[in-house]
Parts: sequence; structure tokens; C-alpha cells
Amino acid sequence: MEFEQRFSSEQACCEYIYKLRWPNGFKCPQCQHQEAWQTERGLYHCTKCHCQTSVTAGTIFQDTKKPLQLWFRAMWYITNQKHGVSALGLQKALGLGCYQTAWTWLHKLRVAMVRPGRDRLSGIVEVDETYVGGKKPVYRGRGAAGKTLVVIMAQEDGNRIGRIRLRQVHDATAQSLEAAVKACVEPGSTVRTDGWSGYGKLECLGYVHKVVRKDYNIGENLLPLANRVASLLKRWLLGTHQGAVRRSHLEYYLDEFTFRFNRRTSRFRGKLFYRLVQQAVAIDPIISKNIGHDQPET
Ligand SMILES: [Zn+2]
Repeated sequence: MEFEQRFSSEQACCEYIYKLRWPNGFKCPQCQHQEAWQTERGLYHCTKCHCQTSVTAGTIFQDTKKPLQLWFRAMWYITNQKHGVSALGLQKALGLGCYQTAWTWLHKLRVAMVRPGRDRLSGIVEVDETYVGGKKPVYRGRGAAGKTLVVIMAQEDGNRIGRIRLRQVHDATAQSLEAAVKACVEPGSTVRTDGWSGYGKLECLGYVHKVVRKDYNIGENLLPLANRVASLLKRWLLGTHQGAVRRSHLEYYLDEFTFRFNRRTSRFRGKLFYRLVQQAVAIDPIISKNIGHDQPET
């Protein structure tokens, strides 16, 4: 009810976005000038370079034909579902006539969940890989057809798991694994892995490398944080998406899982919502045709 009252009009949603986008007042995207007048259509007309911009231009909401209120309701719904949502669930919750719209929105919002300002993990980080998708569970090898390899990076926070990062990779070669670690973990951090040769050169990249087990085929759980994240991820994919994850969409699901996982202890749903809107405003508009060429999953 509080949410409905807070965003009871387009105007209220616009003002919320305005404050997130221009916390210190209007700034022209062309010339950085800080003065503008508002046109009848609600556009901001820069008094210096005379370009016009809308409050949603350059955000995920750019060119949307649907009311912002509906977008806000979508974000509220998504942040309130503890385990994640399906396009069908979102379509029903919003009363959207078109499944495709719900599907596209969900994918755009998943991108907004993690992409901007991804800071890297630091301190002590466990790194391991896991296979996602496919039918049969595989013995832990380093190559399995039909399955996607995901690098799991979990920061240690006392006895528990701190923040995580997930990265889809082509294979378990040093080249792929090093790129994933470099993108997600601050140099200088301690990285714990098994004895797989793909991790052999981490010291050269500026990490303190601790090998916790020499034989990478022994099933002993010496990387408990990474392994726990792997099993939670698989359970989540199975529960929320019935395990029917297309390889081309996996990146989005990994982003959503990461967003939720890293904020799992957030006691205030409102904060999660705030973060999501903030990130949706911060990223470039996502063109629907860039969301992958597959048909939406049903
Ligand atoms: Zn200007």
C-alpha cells in the first residue's frame, strides 16, 4: 500500500527517476549545462545548447510506450519475490496482455540488476567452476558437451559467504579462467582454488594463490563456499526456471542470482527496489533485439 501511494502517478515516478539521475539538479547530457525549462510534453530544454532530453533518455526506460508506473510495479514485484520470477509470473502480476512484453522487461531488468558499477571481490576469495544445464550430472571433468561452464567466485566473510560473482566461460583453460578472475577479483586478494593447471599462473597476475587440494578429481569439499554457491545456483535455476535455461540467456540468470544473493540479508525490500531503479537509470538503454535471438522460453 505504501508503494502504491508513493508512486500513484506518472509524475511521482518521473520525480523519483529525476532525483536518481540528477541528484544535484538537471545536467544537460550534451553540454553539461545546468539550466533547463520544461516543455509542455515534459521534456527538458537546455537553455544553452537548446537540446531537449527526457528524464528517461539514456536509461532502461527510454522510448517505452508503457507508463512508468507499470515499470515501477514490475520492479517492485521482482524485488519482492524472494526467489526470482518468471516472465509468465510477471505478466500475470502486472496484467500484461502480451507475454513478449513481460519477457523483454524481465530481461532488461536482469541486465540492470548487476551490470553497472560491478566492483570486484577482495580479501579471501574461493574460485571454482561448475557445470550448468544439460541432462545428466557429470563427474567433475573439465569438458562436457551440452553443458555450460560457470566460474564461481565467493568472498569469505568470517564463516559465511560474502559477496559472489559468477562468470560464464567457454572452457576451463588458463586463458578463460584468468580472464574471469581478473574481471571479478581485485589484484592483491588471496584466491583459493584447487590444483587445476588453469589456475597455475594466478601469482603472476598479482594474486596470492592458495591451492587447497592438489588432486582436482577428489570429491572432498575443500572449497565449501564456492561449492555451496554452486548448489544454491543449481537449485535456484531448477526451482525458478525449471532448469530450462538456454545457454544464450544464462548470463541474465547469473546476473539475477548474483543480485539476489548479494543482497539476501537486506532486511528492507525498499532498499532492494531503490537499488534496482538506481541501476536501471544508470545503464544505457537495452535494445530488445540485443537480448538474444532465441524465442522466449515458455
Ligand atoms: Zn545543453
